[in-house]
Amino acid sequence: MNKFDKNYVIATMENILNIASPTGYTNNVVKALETIVDDLGYPHKRDMKGNLIVTIDGHDNNYTKALSAHVDTLGLMVRSINSDGTLNFTVLGGPILNTYDGEYCSVITRDGKSYRGTVLSKSPSVHVYEDANSRKRDANNMYIRIDENVSTKDAVLDLGIGNGDIIAIDPKVEVNPSGFIKSRFLDDKISVALVLGVLKYLKDENIKPAFKTKVLFSTYEEVGHGMAHLPADVKELLSVDMGSMGLDLECTEYDVSICAKDSSGPYDYNMVSDLVNMAKANKLNYVVDIYPMYGSDTSAALRGGNDIKGALIGPGVHASHGMERCHIDGVLNTMKLISEYLSK
Ligand SMILES: [Zn+2]
Repeated sequence: MNKFDKNYVIATMENILNIASPTGYTNNVVKALETIVDDLGYPHKRDMKGNLIVTIDGHDNNYTKALSAHVDTLGLMVRSINSDGTLNFTVLGGPILNTYDGEYCSVITRDGKSYRGTVLSKSPSVHVYEDANSRKRDANNMYIRIDENVSTKDAVLDLGIGNGDIIAIDPKVEVNPSGFIKSRFLDDKISVALVLGVLKYLKDENIKPAFKTKVLFSTYEEVGHGMAHLPADVKELLSVDMGSMGLDLECTEYDVSICAKDSSGPYDYNMVSDLVNMAKANKLNYVVDIYPMYGSDTSAALRGGNDIKGALIGPGVHASHGMERCHIDGVLNTMKLISEYLSK
């Protein structure tokens, strides 16, 4: 595993985590990925929906394997402007809204301006509101306070802010010397970064995968239809997305998690078995888990009617869709399993 460039993965992760990409607003981050992939020297194209598709030549180009990782994240969208100059919002994807209370954010207008703000409860002051602690944290009971001199709806409209504008929550990226990585949206930008790390490894070591490989960076995973449509030649899809942790699940942040079944049903029996055997043979820290409330780009591809074999793996991520944390060891175990998968 020492052949993987850890620093590259972390720098790439920080780069893309700091480009706001709530689901439905992914053009900027995909542009950044295009530059990264250009630097690695692999050909790529976008499909109509905005997914980025990278192609890698294999020893046998008559069979195509695919990897996917999603660059879209959770976020918010302006639902309406209140008469006092605050904003109501609707959620993009499924955040834990309690963790959004007090978070700093950017409101991005359709004409490209960006304003700072804060997500707050509608009972935001303990000195005034009896229910400051107890009020439910949901979209009906929270709002956005904009850091501009606006106290009327018209003043907000004058800023260029309107219904349907994107609201991006600050990711708060922190890489610790202990190997822990904390940030919002590690789901799934840590996987995007580690997949790019595998691509860099293939290039640095001059390794060709066994089969033609398409790497799919998807843009609508958080709303369920991400890779619903696959390039026609794809026969197998291995989605790389966060490994769930908690309750009776075995996964820790040091592991690569192999998902046997999630809410969308069981993954391909042989592919899962092969992944388990590869993890075992390479003495990786791995677990096999069931994710009780989860769907992946592989689920979307299967539901979309693609005739493929599909599986799901990823590094353990704690407190998903809230204040997420992973560890570099889980990242490296995942990279190793992917490179094994591509080599056979
Ligand atoms: Zn995800």
